[in-house]
Amino acid sequence: MCYQLPSLIMEGTAIVISPLIALMKNQVDVVNGISEDEGVAHYLNSSLNKAAIQQVIDDVRSGKTKLLYVAPESLNKDENVAFLKEVKISFYAIDEAHCISEWGHDFRPEYRNIRPTINKIGAAPVIALTATATDKVRSDIKKSLGILDAVEFKSSFNRPNLYYEVRPKTKDIDKQIIKFIKQNAGKSGIVYCLSRKKVEELAAVLQANDIKAAAYHAGLDSATRSQTQDEFLMENIDIIVATIAFGMGIDKPDVRFVIHYDIPKSLEGYYQETGRAGRDGGEGICLAFYAYKDLQKLEKFMEGKPVAEQDIGRQLLQETAAYAESSVCRRKMLLHYFGEEYKEPNCHNCDNCLHPKEKHEATNLLLIVLQAILAIKENFRQDYVVDFIKGVSTEDIVSHKHDTLEEFGSGEDENPKLWNPVIRQALIAGYIKKDVENYGLLKVTAAGKRYIKSPKSFMIVEDAEFKEEGDDESGEAVGAALDPTLYAMLKDLRKQMARKLEVPPYVIFQDVSLEQMATMYPINLQELQNIQGVGAGKAKRYGKEFCELIEKHCKENGIERPEELRVRTVAKKSMLKVKIIQNIDRQVALDDIALAQGLEFEELLDEVEAIVYSGTKLNIDYFLEEVMDDDHVDDIYDYFRESETDDLEVAMKELGGEYDENEIRLVRIKFFSEMAN
Ligand SMILES: [Zn+2]
Repeated sequence: MCYQLPSLIMEGTAIVISPLIALMKNQVDVVNGISEDEGVAHYLNSSLNKAAIQQVIDDVRSGKTKLLYVAPESLNKDENVAFLKEVKISFYAIDEAHCISEWGHDFRPEYRNIRPTINKIGAAPVIALTATATDKVRSDIKKSLGILDAVEFKSSFNRPNLYYEVRPKTKDIDKQIIKFIKQNAGKSGIVYCLSRKKVEELAAVLQANDIKAAAYHAGLDSATRSQTQDEFLMENIDIIVATIAFGMGIDKPDVRFVIHYDIPKSLEGYYQETGRAGRDGGEGICLAFYAYKDLQKLEKFMEGKPVAEQDIGRQLLQETAAYAESSVCRRKMLLHYFGEEYKEPNCHNCDNCLHPKEKHEATNLLLIVLQAILAIKENFRQDYVVDFIKGVSTEDIVSHKHDTLEEFGSGEDENPKLWNPVIRQALIAGYIKKDVENYGLLKVTAAGKRYIKSPKSFMIVEDAEFKEEGDDESGEAVGAALDPTLYAMLKDLRKQMARKLEVPPYVIFQDVSLEQMATMYPINLQELQNIQGVGAGKAKRYGKEFCELIEKHCKENGIERPEELRVRTVAKKSMLKVKIIQNIDRQVALDDIALAQGLEFEELLDEVEAIVYSGTKLNIDYFLEEVMDDDHVDDIYDYFRESETDDLEVAMKELGGEYDENEIRLVRIKFFSEMAN
C-alpha cells in the first residue's frame, strides 16, 4: 500500500525492486485484479519468456503500466537499464530493503548495485521498505541508497498480542512439542527447524502422533510445496514443520503459535518468523527451544566464510544467545534490539514477566563495568570488557597492555556469571550503548557518566541457567516403577485368555510387554502400540481387555499416567522392517535378505522375531522347506505348543540338543506367526 497507491496516482511508472520472485506474480495479480485495465502492473524477472518480456516492454512504453516489479538481478542488466532510460519513472521502491545490509538477516550482494543502477537509469524519488531493521541496518540502507537525509517512518515493533517463551532444549523436546500441540488441538501453527533433515524427521514424528502436520522446505518440488501451503490455508493441515523457506508471503491471519525447534541465526529472523503468529491480533504463542550447543553448531557452519562475514554472524548469534538466556522481559529485549524503548515494568505476556526472577542490587557491579569501559577508551566489545573486568590475561588484553591498568581485574571477586547480565541490562537501561557504526564496541552514554558521579539503585536479574543436554534425564522413562498389583492382574488376565484361546500365554503378550504395561498404563489401543512387542495386529486382537483392565485400575487407585506414553516415536528401523516384510512376501531366502540388508543372519532373525512378536503375520514356510526336514519342524513346533515358555535356552535343553539355535528360532517364528496372529 505504501507504494501501490502513490504509483497509480503519480505520472510515470514506479519501479519496485523486490527479491521475492515467487511472490511478484501474486502481487501483480492483486493489483491487476482491482484495476479495469490489464497491464497496470507487471513484473520483469528471469521467469519470463521473450514474448512475455516484449509485452511488458510494450505496456510500459505505452504508459499503461504504473507499477513494474523487478528483481535486483534483472534491474542491473544492461538491456533493461537501456530500456528503462527511455521511460518516465515516477519513483523507485525498494522492498525488503534490509537485504542491502550485511547486518540484516538476508543479505543480497546485488542489492548493493541498486544505487549505481538508479543513477544510470535516471533520478526519481526513492522509498525503502522493510519490516525488520535495527539501527545499524537502517543506516546501512540509507547509506547504500544514497538517501542519508531521507525521512524515516517507523512504526512500533511491539506486537502486544504475542506471547514469548524460551525453554531449554532437552532430549524430550519432541514430547514437549507434541504435548503443546495437543493442548492446542485444532489451531494452526508453524514449527521452524534449521535443517531439512530435522524438518522431515519432526514432521514424521508429529504425523505418527496423529497430528495433521506436513514438511516444507526448499528441497521439495514446487508442486508439493504449493499444495502444502494450500492445505495449510484451507486448514486441512494444522501444523507446518518448515525451514525458514516457509512463511514469506504467507498471509494466514490466524496462525496461533510459532515454535522454534532450533534457535534462529539472528533476532531479526526470530522476530520475522514469530511475527507470523497472531496477525489478526488474536492469540499468538511464540515458543523457542534453546541450547547453547546449537549456537556452537551454527558458529561452526560459518567457518570457511569470509572473516568479516563470520564476525558479523557471530555477533548476531551472541545477540540471540543474550535474548534466550536473559531473565529480562523478552519484549523489552526485542524492542531494545530494534532501537525501541519499552517502558512498562511488566508486559504480562512473556515467560520472564509471568514468572519473574528475584532482583539483585547491582550498583557496585554497574560502576565496575562503566569504569572498565572508560579505562579501555570505549574501544572494545563486550567479551573483551568482561575478560578485562575478570582479570583474564588474554593475548589481546596483554597486547594492548590493558593488564597493567588499575581497573584490570576490578571485578575478580564477584560472581563471574553476573557480568554479561549486568552489561545487557545496563544497555537496556541506557547507561551504555553499542556503537552502531563499529558494531559491538561498548560506549558509556551521558547517563552512564552521570551515574558514575551519583550512583543510584540498579536492580538486575540473573540469567536463566541452561543445562547442557545430557544432564537431563527427564526424557527417559527411568524412575517410572512397575506397578506390582497391576502386573499380577495383567498376568492373570493373560492366563485366562490363553486358556480360552488354547494358546500358551506368552503367545498373547510376552512378559516384557506386560511389565511395560504395568509401568506405562496404556488405556487405548493407540497407546498400547507404544509398548514393546505390541504392534497394531496384536493390539487389535488382544488389546481391548488389557486396556480396560488398566483403565479401571487407574481410576480406582487415582493413578496419574506418565505423559511419555502418548508420544509415539517413529522407529528408525521401521524402513528396514518394511523391507524385510516385503522380501519375505516375495519368498526371498532369508540368508539372501540378510546379505542384501548387510545383516548377520542372527540379526535378521532378531528383526523377524520383533516383527511377528508385535503381531504381524509372516509366512516363512518356503524357507523352512528349503533348509529343514519337515519332521524336525514338526518336532520343534509341537514343543512350543506344549511349553509354558518361549525361552530359547529352555527349548534347547528340553529338545535334547538335537537342533541348533537358528533352527529353533526359525520354527519359533513360524509358530508365533501362526498362533498369535
Ligand atoms: Zn515481558
